Amino acid sequence: MTSDPFKNATKQLENASKIIDIDESVLEILKYPKRILTVNIPVKMDSGKIEVFKGYRSQYNDALGPFKGGIRFHPDVSLSEVKALSAWMTWKCSVVNIPFGGGKGGIIVDVRKLSKGELERLSRGYVQALRDFIGPYKDIPAPDVNTDPQIMAWMMDEFSTMHGYNVPGVVTGKPIEVGGTKGRKFSTSQGGIYVFEKALEKLKIDSKNIKIAIQGFGNVGYFASEILFALGYDVVAVSDSKGGILLENNKEKTLNVKEVLKYKEATGSVVGYPGTRKITNEELLELDVDVLMPAALENVITEKNADNIKAKIIVELANGPITPEADKILEKKGVAVVPDILANAGGVIVSYFEWVQNLQNYYWSENENIGRLKEIIEKAFDEVWGKKECCDCSLRVAAYALAVERVAAAEKLRRNL
Ligand code: NAD
Repeated sequence: MTSDPFKNATKQLENASKIIDIDESVLEILKYPKRILTVNIPVKMDSGKIEVFKGYRSQYNDALGPFKGGIRFHPDVSLSEVKALSAWMTWKCSVVNIPFGGGKGGIIVDVRKLSKGELERLSRGYVQALRDFIGPYKDIPAPDVNTDPQIMAWMMDEFSTMHGYNVPGVVTGKPIEVGGTKGRKFSTSQGGIYVFEKALEKLKIDSKNIKIAIQGFGNVGYFASEILFALGYDVVAVSDSKGGILLENNKEKTLNVKEVLKYKEATGSVVGYPGTRKITNEELLELDVDVLMPAALENVITEKNADNIKAKIIVELANGPITPEADKILEKKGVAVVPDILANAGGVIVSYFEWVQNLQNYYWSENENIGRLKEIIEKAFDEVWGKKECCDCSLRVAAYALAVERVAAAEKLRRNL
């Protein structure tokens, strides 16, 4: 087993390529990012001293359209992680049939140690360093872990200032006031819940009395819990980087997640929320629940704990939470895994809508955005399910196979291979 995310991403590509008709030469092209950029960003700290932060951008493939993918600010950002995330973005855009390629960026930084001003200067510095390589028709960044609409507003402003006119389409995930799109903030989670409900339907699982645990209570994890709560599902456990909580209250069947959010905002963590028991993030994954939704970081389900997973369905809201070795164990156990490239594609689908609206300067309502998201993601789910049935493979292999086939076809046509 490897915890090297890019090796895992390559393995997943190779697994999928076994069930499709793909030229060796095209497969070889698809195994590598087209361009990798490493930048060192000097930032004037509040103390007056200069600190230099290392950042990356991996532009994986643009056969279907401009590179597209988020920027992560985290102390554990590595080149391997950024490369893997950029490969996953390529397959994600392809599997849901939107005309984007895949990219991803990151900066090695602990944002908790930065003031707002330092964070702004770092964000602007990243755009200055990558100015020639990003743009609405080249590469369009977006938020990821620890980056948010405010950071996107600064990045858009920096790029626009450099060019002398407004370029809202350079990044997505912006605040509504500066060209963001309605519904973007909960779109990743909403897309995940649409495919989760499709999976329940296909697997003929009764949606009543389903117990759900969610790892991660950030943008994706929180909104997933809120949507599930509103739909009447029982969310019994959630977590953040400081630990998790399990409902231990005989009167309630579900956590009131809106109240948990208020508690987290007041105290800094979900841990300690009344009526719950503290659990670790590792324990959360092994709870006796029906559904598990990892919505934090990658490689949390490995060959070490896969056997202990009790959930029947895992919806990968995070990118890469399950290693390929763990995937095999889960498949043998009969656990249905709705793979990340499909389950969390809602964000990039609505980002695509944001970009389209920015280019047209014509804005849609939230209902239009979410209605179109539902249509696109449910169609993609049906196509993946169809592939799984016809190839007798896992949903992950089916999703990859479809995605890789489409990118391979575009590469082949463009390069006359
Ligand atoms: P976020 O920063 O808003 O939230 C991350 C959450 O994970 C927080 O609750 C944090 O406390 C928790 N966390 C951090 N380290 C942890 C650890 N070691 N153990 C357990 N929990 C930990 O990030 P997000 O935007 O919600 O992204 C979460 C995942 O979803 C990532 O894998 C990201 O790539 C993926 N994703 C995000 C989007 C999006 O639209 N934001 C789209 C697609 C995929």
